Amino acid sequence: MKVKCPTCQQDVEWSPSSEYRPFCSKKCQLIDLGEWAGEEKVISSPAQESDINNLDPEDIEAMLSEQHSDFFKH
Ligand SMILES: [Zn+2]
Repeated sequence: MKVKCPTCQQDVEWSPSSEYRPFCSKKCQLIDLGEWAGEEKVISSPAQESDINNLDPEDIEAMLSEQHSDFFKH
């Protein structure tokens, strides 16, 4: 069964796995709740992705190895 997202009119599968039904996503749910405006700047900013691209491969390796050591501590 499919319903239309009230915010963007996209088809949404109505099933237990559709966490945000009848919305297609958390974003549309927040828009409907009027809570999106405050977060829009943060989430729509492409800065995060370019930051990752600007990292040195060595920095990424270091970050990954830190994560792994954290992981094994738990
Ligand atoms: Zn939507």
